[in-house]
Amino acid sequence: MSNIVAIVGRPNVGKSTFFNRLVEKRQAIMDNMAGVTRDRHYGYAEWIGKFFTVIDTGGYVTGSEDKFESQIRKQVKLAIDEATAVIFMVDVRDGITGFDKEFANILRASKKPVFVAANKTDTPDKAMLAAEFYELSLGEIYPISSENGSGTGELLDEVVKTF
Ligand code: GDP
Ligand code: MG
Repeated sequence: MSNIVAIVGRPNVGKSTFFNRLVEKRQAIMDNMAGVTRDRHYGYAEWIGKFFTVIDTGGYVTGSEDKFESQIRKQVKLAIDEATAVIFMVDVRDGITGFDKEFANILRASKKPVFVAANKTDTPDKAMLAAEFYELSLGEIYPISSENGSGTGELLDEVVKTF
């Protein structure tokens, strides 16, 4: 069976940016030609010789707060059911939000390995902000920048160890 990494988190934290960075360049080019890149939520990735499928769980949330809640549950359920490992993405600029706590509660109860990626840590001076997320009680925090790639290698090194 193939390994699956799900990226979960509330909207705008940078899940799709990370997903696009991860998935094979060749595949991205092919999808561009087909004109479907924006709607793609499954991709194929490789890190230090290990191949895996990546799920970008975002992009569906619209409407009321109730709807938002049910979407969170759907996303996390998908991650728990399908994933070998889960990357839980948060935003260092915003700090911990109520929705982050909701995600964390459900993920903490799961038996899947969860990796907290403190995204938008673009520069070393922001790294100290990532420490706030230890409060989520999900173990190690990985400060990353999906935009410039910093910290993503350290995160992926640990993620692929779960395969
Ligand atoms: P998603 O809703 O979680 O999929 O988030 P997106 O990937 O669509 O990103 C939301 C916004 O955050 C976009 O404007 C991105 O350019 C921006 N963004 C994503 N990653 C980073 C990052 O590492 N640093 C900064 N500064 N902005 C980022
Ligand atoms: Mg997205």
